[in-house]
Amino acid sequence: MDRSPSGNRSVSTKTIQEPARQIPLYGEYEVAVLGGGPAGIAAAVAAARAGRRTLLIERYGFLGGMGTAAGVTNFCGLHANVYGNAHRVVQGIASDLLARIDRLDGLNAPHLILGKIFAQAYDTAAYKIAADDLLASYKVDILFHALAAGVVMNGDRRVDALMVETKAGRRAVRAGVFIDCSGDGDLAAWAGAPFEVGDAQGHPLYPSMMFRLNGIDPDKAGDAWRTIPQLMEQALAAGTHSFPRKSAIVRPQRSGIEWRVNFTQVARPDGHAVNGIEPDDLTRGEIEGRRQALAAHQFLRTVPGFEKSYIVDLPPQLGIRETRRIKGGYQLSGEDVLGCASFGDSVGVNGWPIEAHVAGDVVFTFPPIPESRGYNELPYRMLVPEGVDNLLVAGRCASMTHEGQSAARVSGACFAMGEAAGSAAALALAGNRMPRDIAVEKLQETLRQQGAFIGRDQAVPEGL
Ligand SMILES: Cc1cc2nc3c(=O)[nH]c(=O)nc-3n(C[C@H](O)[C@H](O)[C@H](O)COP(=O)(O)OP(=O)(O)OC[C@H]3O[C@@H](n4cnc5c(N)ncnc54)[C@H](O)[C@@H]3O)c2cc1C
Repeated sequence: MDRSPSGNRSVSTKTIQEPARQIPLYGEYEVAVLGGGPAGIAAAVAAARAGRRTLLIERYGFLGGMGTAAGVTNFCGLHANVYGNAHRVVQGIASDLLARIDRLDGLNAPHLILGKIFAQAYDTAAYKIAADDLLASYKVDILFHALAAGVVMNGDRRVDALMVETKAGRRAVRAGVFIDCSGDGDLAAWAGAPFEVGDAQGHPLYPSMMFRLNGIDPDKAGDAWRTIPQLMEQALAAGTHSFPRKSAIVRPQRSGIEWRVNFTQVARPDGHAVNGIEPDDLTRGEIEGRRQALAAHQFLRTVPGFEKSYIVDLPPQLGIRETRRIKGGYQLSGEDVLGCASFGDSVGVNGWPIEAHVAGDVVFTFPPIPESRGYNELPYRMLVPEGVDNLLVAGRCASMTHEGQSAARVSGACFAMGEAAGSAAALALAGNRMPRDIAVEKLQETLRQQGAFIGRDQAVPEGL
């Protein structure tokens, strides 16, 4: 089999004919959400909260998306640095979920990143249980272990049904409004919505294989996250170890004996980022990610306090930061993030800076501190794809440029987008309109009443 310069199998021109068949209908819903990450959780809860019969479809047997399936274990983007002061700017459904995780003793106190902005770590088991509990309390139906695999259209612009592969065989899900929270824009792409992948050359942000270590001596390790970068430089200079990227994030979980490690960077043989929608890339990326995790641990065992540590968890999948970005009525840009842009149709905010995972490094670029308000608004048009009528897109595959996505892809903004998309779907159904035709002021009012912070003239929430 020939391989392309990236090392992938050449696209075969050979095809086989799949016989047409009758597909059992799994169910008919008012709202169907694809994907159970932060965007999908919030979208499903918001639609169900508004009284709509809602199904969430997820390929794994648990919720959380990259936050659990890729072992991220840390919420970014819940906070913003507003004129030099920290505020939690993502509220609403995210606050409800955080409270449930906290009740399970699964939430760290917020911690400062780069001396500029807060993030908040959590335990993945608590996240999974809290998310189950949240969806159950709003009576969202869930279909786990169901891989969406295609759509049947009703005309050019309307999705009739989503096809899902289950252990019982292929099933169809019908809905009035679909919300694509797959992170990869699978549903929207199959329905014919235009999309982009990666930078101007088509290369996405580099993925990472996260992992967690246990068996650390907390007293001896102390604030090792401060010293590890210097130890890496020394090891490089001494030639004892090499690293796939400069910036490593190694931080304690709630129990100081367990630390999370964000250390790896997974490339193709040609050096470009693994592409998370290429099957061969993903296969090699998983194996390379685990190889890098092992190598990283061999180095980390030289850090005081880490001598007896062991890899307690390699997550179910490689962590994918960026694949398809669906094109909608507006693409959030890097300038919008750095300029703290405002939009008349704002439905939430993003306070996370640009975090570019480029070859060999992670480059953060913040809006001016303390001169700026530190967050940009997220316009509703980001969620409304071109070309398809009964569809919304939320989360890391929403309408953004490569640079804009490098910031607003993190959990905080994804929760905000999801909550807005679920509420918008409910409003569209109530008014018998397409999502693109709803009254945005009504959506904004609904979100505010439900406790979300959407920017505009709202007072910035106090505290962390
Ligand atoms: C290594 C790494 C580290 C990161 N670190 C942080 C961090 O510290 N803090 C932070 O906030 N963010 C971090 N992020 C980013 C953040 O985790 C994601 O961008 C965020 O989870 C995106 O949310 P989402 O809901 O849009 O999509 P995702 O979290 O990707 O969720 C999509 C869901 O859809 C499901 N799905 C996809 N396709 C299908 C299909 N065809 N059929 C059925 N189900 C499907 C997936 O299984 C998944 O559960 C990190 C990301 C990576 C990869």
